[in-house]
Amino acid sequence: MVYELPPFRPPSEAYSMLLRVTRGCPWNRCKFCGMYKMMRFETRSVEEVKADIDAAREFYGDRKMNVFIGDADSPVIKTDDFVEILRYLRSQFTQIQRVTSYGRAKTLALMAPDKLKRLAEAGLDRLHLGLETGDPKLLQFINKGSTPEHMIKAGRKVKAAGIELSEYLMLGLGGADGWESHARESAAVLNAIDPDFIRVRTTSLIPDTPLFEAYEKGEYKPPTILDMLMEERLLIECLEGIHSEFHSDHVSNFVPVFGKFMEDKPEMLKTLDAVIERLEKNKDKLTNEPRIVTVM
Ligand code: SF4
Repeated sequence: MVYELPPFRPPSEAYSMLLRVTRGCPWNRCKFCGMYKMMRFETRSVEEVKADIDAAREFYGDRKMNVFIGDADSPVIKTDDFVEILRYLRSQFTQIQRVTSYGRAKTLALMAPDKLKRLAEAGLDRLHLGLETGDPKLLQFINKGSTPEHMIKAGRKVKAAGIELSEYLMLGLGGADGWESHARESAAVLNAIDPDFIRVRTTSLIPDTPLFEAYEKGEYKPPTILDMLMEERLLIECLEGIHSEFHSDHVSNFVPVFGKFMEDKPEMLKTLDAVIERLEKNKDKLTNEPRIVTVM
């Protein structure tokens, strides 16, 4: 039985069945990202994916579960193909509770709204989008290939289609000097979208990526833990009028902060304030050594 799995999935999909409709990332140029650097982007044929669904059906049986579809930007494939795959998946696994996938903001911002509605009707429940930051200068610096306007347009379109939206933000991406604008501008974009979920993860440097090189040249100065927590605090403080769940559910994060806006905002700020207060007392001992991670 040959069954191909996507190499990455969000933490919230840890127990999901994995399925792969593409290999790699059609953009593959973000400065910080090493996820798909070792592979050329390819779309898998509908027949190939259906054969994987058959193999998975044999392996798992028809039982209650969630499904995550990789790799980096599944909506980039032909909508007819994606609809056919989703329908086949749902016909073979009748007890699926949730089907999710990664999507890229630029792809979604340019997509016709009715195409997204067709994906929703065929059974796509949630899209995970990498906002990373709402700061236009920082988006340019990291070569995200998307502007804050693309991010807002994509996010609103996904929600209007009836698909749940999970937005990811990178704590520390603005560095020691840019954390304030990173927090404020990201909050402005998130306020304009009102996603279902906001998830944060800490910026890690990956050797051989342009961000690592920028760090070595002194063009990116990593923040201290205190800077990063103040940034997270400012972000939460600036989030207004939204209904999102906030999850700090990545292994890279220093403080677990969870809650639902707006009701849990004071509690989330209190959690961060308690840690910030302790760190302030030991400010002189804090370094801005980056978190370095190797992608295999
Ligand atoms: S962050 Fe996402 S869009 Fe950017 S290169 Fe990596 S996988 Fe592609």
